[in-house]
Amino acid sequence: MSAPLSRIGVLGGTFDPVHHGHLAAASEVCAALGLDQVLLAPTNVQPFKDGFDSAPAEHRLEMCRLAVAGDERLAVTPVDVERGGITYTVDTLTDLRGQLPGAELYFITGADALARLPEWKDSERLTELARFVGVTRPGHALPQLDTAHALVEVPAMAVSSTDVRRRVRAGAPVRYLVPRAVADYIAQHDLYAGGWDD
Ligand code: ATP
Ligand code: MG
Repeated sequence: MSAPLSRIGVLGGTFDPVHHGHLAAASEVCAALGLDQVLLAPTNVQPFKDGFDSAPAEHRLEMCRLAVAGDERLAVTPVDVERGGITYTVDTLTDLRGQLPGAELYFITGADALARLPEWKDSERLTELARFVGVTRPGHALPQLDTAHALVEVPAMAVSSTDVRRRVRAGAPVRYLVPRAVADYIAQHDLYAGGWDD
């Protein structure tokens, strides 16, 4: 984060846990838009969830750090966890602009979520703070979105964090759905075994 990078992607999410769908999306957008780096930004508490059912932020942050280790194009920012409280994208982008003066920010999110951007907090400010990039799965129609700077197809990754949590609870393998270090971390810390239900 200290290097003078100029085109920075930001992938916000709960990352409970981070999985290969997230990493494929970050990697694909990085390449498609020629970004210098994509930052994973784990939320503290989500506005639309009460927060009680997600793993503690420190665990989610650490799993993101493990997941991006070894790929210089990807990094993690603790900006939302350090700010605390409910995470709003307007605050994420405002803080990152302060930390990365001169950078162009590209906020990456699912195309379905992007369709609802006008409903986000301070939506009119958001488009001044960053460009918005929608990611879709191949085979899904690319929507026409006034709010989107670009839409990028991400290779078939049906994995979701919800599915990973269900698998862990059921004793099913997650080894190739999440990075190996993340699978090991989940096992070591006994995450999702029943403590944080959906
Ligand atoms: P959950 O199942 O708990 O909702 P999730 O897998 O959707 O979790 P999030 O942390 O909610 O993960 O997602 C963070 C961001 O990553 C969102 O913008 C979401 O659209 C995107 N994303 C999630 N899964 C994928 C995937 N498989 N491929 C591409 N993008 C994804
Ligand atoms: Mg989701």
